[in-house]
Amino acid sequence: MHKKLKVGIFSFTGDEGCVIQFLEILNYKFFEWVEKVDFRNARVLKSHNEITPLDVAFIEGAISNEKEEKRLKTIRAASKKVVAIGSCAINGSPSNHRNFFDKKILEEIQSILEHFDHREKVVPLHELIKVDDQVPGCPIIEESFCAMMDKYLKEFGVV
Ligand code: SF4
Repeated sequence: MHKKLKVGIFSFTGDEGCVIQFLEILNYKFFEWVEKVDFRNARVLKSHNEITPLDVAFIEGAISNEKEEKRLKTIRAASKKVVAIGSCAINGSPSNHRNFFDKKILEEIQSILEHFDHREKVVPLHELIKVDDQVPGCPIIEESFCAMMDKYLKEFGVV
């Protein structure tokens, strides 16, 4: 069997609009990629959800709690390359609204933040791990995502 690129698609804090866009891309890329890409971890494709060694992890969303931070670091350790997809993952916005709340509102939601083990600030990926690449947009720009997949298919010797 020929070599395939081992890929994971992960979601953290956000509205999952970038992953929905990824599904839209599959409308025209599925049959091409299914020959070249092994989607090892993509909840939307009903793959298993264990974190196994990957060539490339595409990650959507900002990081807002301790559990997410731990999972993000586990993904980084298991992946040769990490790509932040969408503005939440790249710069935290728009999922980081609460970073800009005033003191009064923050006091009002404090019990919720503590209950769900939230970090003091919602942060983008690069503040916690090394990020190798990024796909811009909110949601992701389709052409940029496809170009990124092509880049790594070549870099890992699949095509
Ligand atoms: S970048 Fe935009 S579309 Fe993507 S998860 Fe964040 S809010 Fe949703």
